[in-house]
Amino acid sequence: MNGTVALVTGASSGIGAAIARVLAARGDQVVSLDRSKKGPGCETLHLEVDVANFADVERAVSDAEAQRGPLDVAVNNAGITRDRVIWKLSEADFDAVIAVNLKGCFNVCHAVAPRMRTRRKGCIVNISSINGLRGKFGQVGYAASKAGVVGLTKSLARELGREGITVNAVAPGFIETELTRSLPEDVRQRALEETLLGRLGSPEDVASAVAFLCSEEARHITGQVLQVDGGQYL
Ligand code: NAP
Repeated sequence: MNGTVALVTGASSGIGAAIARVLAARGDQVVSLDRSKKGPGCETLHLEVDVANFADVERAVSDAEAQRGPLDVAVNNAGITRDRVIWKLSEADFDAVIAVNLKGCFNVCHAVAPRMRTRRKGCIVNISSINGLRGKFGQVGYAASKAGVVGLTKSLARELGREGITVNAVAPGFIETELTRSLPEDVRQRALEETLLGRLGSPEDVASAVAFLCSEEARHITGQVLQVDGGQYL
C-alpha cells in the first residue's frame, strides 16, 4: 500500500474497472462506487450508490473516509448513453444522461472538494469524451453532458488550484467496453477508420492516462483535457 486512497465511480465494468485495477496495482486503496453489487474484481471497498443521488453520494464519501481514511484521489467515471436523434430523444432520456454523467460528477466533486481543501491535497479526474468536444450525430444529450464535464473541470481547477488540488479531464475516443459493444458494426468501423493509430482503444489505455494524472509526476498539470483517442479527433 502506498498510502493513497482513491475513489472510482462506475468501477464495476469497462474503463472504471480498469482504472480501479491499475490504481490498486500501484498500491492505492481503492473505494469503488456503483449502483450494482458487482465491484471491479480487485481488492476494493465497494459501495452501492447511484451517483445521481446527491445525498447518497455525500453519505458514501463520508463512509469511505470513515473506513479507509482521507480521500486523495477521486475519479468520476460513471456514465450512461441514450443515443437517439433529438426527434426521438425523450425528455426522460435527456434527463437521465445529464443526471448520471454531469450531475453525478458534480455530486462527487461537491462531496470531496471541501474535504480535500481542508487538507490542501487532492486530485480529481473526470471522464469526458471526445464527443463532448466535437459533438456527434445521435448524441445531443450525451455530448452535452460530456461538454458540461469539461466546463465543470476547468472551473473547479480554477477554484481549487490555490489549495494545491489538481482537477483534470480525460476524453476517451472509441473504447471497447460494454457501452460500445452493442453498437452497430458500421459505427465501430467508422471509429476505426477515424483513428490515426489504426486500432480501437482499450480500457487500460484510458486507465494508464488517469493513473498518470493522479500521480506525483503530474503535480503541475491542472485544468486540462487529455484526449486518449489514438488521434480519432484531431
Ligand atoms: P460501461 O462499461 O457501461 O461502465 C459504466 C459504469 O458506470 C458501470 O460500472 C456502471 O455500473 C456505472 N454506472 C452507470 N450509472 C451509474 C450510476 N447512476 N451510479 C453509479 N454508477 C453508475 O461504460 P464504459 O465504456 O466503461 O464508460 C466509462 C466512462 O467512460 C463513461 O463516463 C463513458 O461515458 C466514458 N466514455 C466511454 C467511451 C467508450 O467508447 N467506451 C468513450 C468516451 C467516454 P452500474 O450499472 O452497476 O451502476
